[in-house]
Amino acid sequence: MVAKGNIDYINFPPEAVSDNVSGSIRWGNVGDASANLKIDLDGKQIRKRLFNPGQFEIHSFAITMSDKETFTFVVQQDDGTDTWMENDRRTITIRLPPTIIPRSNCSINYSEVPSETEFAKQVVDLAEINIPKIKSIHNGRNRDEKINIIIKPILLDSNGNDCPAATSGKSVLLNMHWFKQIADLYKDMNADNGSIIHEIDHAILDAPYDAFKANPWLVEGLADFVRYKLNYPREAKEKGDFKPGRAIPNYIKGGAFKSYQTSAHFLIYLEKERPTAIKELYQALIDNANIDHVFINQFKKSKEEYVKSYEEKYDPKSYDNNSNRTRFNFLNWILSIFRKSSPPR
Ligand SMILES: [Zn+2]
Repeated sequence: MVAKGNIDYINFPPEAVSDNVSGSIRWGNVGDASANLKIDLDGKQIRKRLFNPGQFEIHSFAITMSDKETFTFVVQQDDGTDTWMENDRRTITIRLPPTIIPRSNCSINYSEVPSETEFAKQVVDLAEINIPKIKSIHNGRNRDEKINIIIKPILLDSNGNDCPAATSGKSVLLNMHWFKQIADLYKDMNADNGSIIHEIDHAILDAPYDAFKANPWLVEGLADFVRYKLNYPREAKEKGDFKPGRAIPNYIKGGAFKSYQTSAHFLIYLEKERPTAIKELYQALIDNANIDHVFINQFKKSKEEYVKSYEEKYDPKSYDNNSNRTRFNFLNWILSIFRKSSPPR
């Protein structure tokens, strides 16, 4: 009885295009007994057994390249003991281009703007540090999946306007053209880090499409709520046509379901009324639950009733009978007139 295998081919790209590399190994049993294949994935060992002489099998693998630029794996026949057979041993090295930086929670790919190394490093470090902080608020869907950040030279929305960033699933796209204008206007490359935090929150949540379609105000409000909690505000500034708005939660009458900063402002109020509300709302989005029902059944009041008490608190016109409170809230009202919501993104 001779156990003998034959590595037919190994199909992995020598240069990765992302930090997640997939490929396959085809090998066959050419002996007259079952044969073993042993694969060493950078120290992690996998054994495969092929029973049928004369048969070939394909094994597919996905390799996650973390914190280094090259990855080595060894494919070898195995005699069934801990000693590897020396024949037919192959070593493959996969190189990750320097324009892809892997970290443990995320990776960044700036292959389309290869000169932006400084910005890419700044963004990947910002994301790496903040992902665990956001996950202390909520874990989102597919919590262990890494987040991919891709820098595009320019990103336009469906109306052809400059769009700072966009997220789909666990991938975040950033618009280099936008961030260059930000750096120029604010004299600070980090001035719009909050937009990146906002997108990272979308990627962590990874809401089912139907849940997002039904509740855009909530998805966008929560992302700006997280941006506020992690303290990444941005003041409004303008230069010509470039006018990034004020990105700080603010009260606007009728604004609770208008997305972004005004919804974030309502969510800050809601959290004070019901401290578990934020976690519950994230979970409801993951479950694609009916948000109206969540308010009525879990929170014991409709979302409209919450908004009514919220607006009574922030709107001075509701306090006409109480002069002290009117004066106090009148100041808030005046301030609210000068506050602008941030542009949609
Ligand atoms: Zn958003």
